[in-house]
Amino acid sequence: MSVPTVYYASGRARSHHESLLKKIGLLFDRAAVAKMIQPGDLVAIKLHFGERGTTAFLNPVLVRQVVQKVRRAGGKPFLCDSNTLYTGGRTNAVDHLETALQHGFSYATVEAPVIIMDGLRGRGSHDVKIAGHHFDSVQIGAAVVEADVLIVLSHVKGHAMTGYGGAIKNLSMGCSNRAGKQRMHSAVKPAIKAERCRRCGVCVKWCAAGAIVFSAEKEAAARIDPEKCTGCGECIISCPHKAVKVQWATDLPELGERMVEFACGAVAGKEDAVVCFNFVLDVVPDCDCNSWSDLPVVPDCGIVVSTDPVAADQAAIDLINAQSGIVGSALPGAFEPGEDKFCALHPKTDYRLQLAYAEEMGLGRRRYELVTVGAKKDKEEND
Ligand code: SF4
Ligand code: SF4
Repeated sequence: MSVPTVYYASGRARSHHESLLKKIGLLFDRAAVAKMIQPGDLVAIKLHFGERGTTAFLNPVLVRQVVQKVRRAGGKPFLCDSNTLYTGGRTNAVDHLETALQHGFSYATVEAPVIIMDGLRGRGSHDVKIAGHHFDSVQIGAAVVEADVLIVLSHVKGHAMTGYGGAIKNLSMGCSNRAGKQRMHSAVKPAIKAERCRRCGVCVKWCAAGAIVFSAEKEAAARIDPEKCTGCGECIISCPHKAVKVQWATDLPELGERMVEFACGAVAGKEDAVVCFNFVLDVVPDCDCNSWSDLPVVPDCGIVVSTDPVAADQAAIDLINAQSGIVGSALPGAFEPGEDKFCALHPKTDYRLQLAYAEEMGLGRRRYELVTVGAKKDKEEND
C-alpha cells in the first residue's frame, strides 16, 4: 500500500523567490489543493487566533497567502476557530473576534471574513456520528461541518497534556464546541471552587441538567451534583467569578484518544476535501491557548503539507526532532539532533500514543513520503 505524501518547504530563503509566501503557493500547488475546490465552494480555513498575551500564533500574512490561493481556485474562503472551554479572551464569539482582530486577523490583512464556528456562546455544533471506542458521536463546530472544504493551518508546538500540538489537536479541540471540549477533557465533571463562589446563582440558570445546588447552609458555595451533571460545560463559561473549574483528571492517554475521535468527526464526510498545513515555525513549548509565549526550543524548520493529518503531524515532529535543541530555551535536555524534544519537554505524557491511536482509528498514517518543494523548477513555474 502506498504511503501518504507530505510536501515540505524549508524556511531558508536568500531571495524573494524563496520567501515563505512563495513557498505557501508552491505547497498549495504541489498538494493539488485547488483540485479539491469547486467554483463557489465555502472553504473553511481553520486556525488558532491565539489567546491574548501569546505572540507565537500564526502570522496573518502567511494566512492571507492561503486565502488568495483559495480565491484563485474559485472558492469562498473564511477563517474560523472555536470558542474555548476555559475562561479567557476567546470564551464567546464577541471576545474571540476582538482577540482575533487584536492579533491582526482583520479583513484588511487576511482578505477573508472571520467566523467563530460554534457561534456566540459555543453552542453551534452538529453531532457527527463516528465509530470510536469512547464516543459514537462527537460535536463539531457548525461552520466546519457545513463547509465544502477544510484547510487546517496549524502552528506546531508543545502541549502540556498531549505533548505536542499540530493538525490532530486543531481538528479535535480546535473544531469542537464547548461541550465537546468538556467531553474530551474529562469524564469527571466540573467542580466549583468554594473560596471563589459568591453565590450569585448565574450558573444555576445556565445548567440545563439542574445539577447545581445551594445547600441550606448560609454562605455555603454552590455545589455540582456529579450524578446529574452531563458535563456540558455551560457553568464554566457562565460563572462571572471564574469559580467553576475544569477537572483535568482524565488520564492523559485517554484524553489523546478522545481527541483523535473528535478529529475523525471533523474530517467525516470530507473525503478528498481536507488538507493540513503544519507551520514548523516558532516551536514553543506550550499551546497558543496560554496567555504567554516562551522562546522556541528548536530553530525554525519550514512548512509541511499533507491531506493526511497524521502524516503531517509525524513529519513535523520528525523535522523538529532532527534539529539541535536551543540551549537556554525551556528544553531540559535532548539537545542533540535525533533526540525527542517533546518527550523531554512534557515527560508526563507521550504524544506517540495519540499518533498510534490516530492510525488505529483510520485518521491517517504515520509512515509517509517526504517531498521537498522549492526546487528551481518549482520556482520558475510560480514566478
Ligand atoms: S456563577 Fe459562579 S459565583 Fe455564581 S453561584 Fe455559580 S459558581 Fe458561584
Ligand atoms: S457542566 Fe453542565 S450539567 Fe454539569 S453542572 Fe455545569 S452546566 Fe450543569
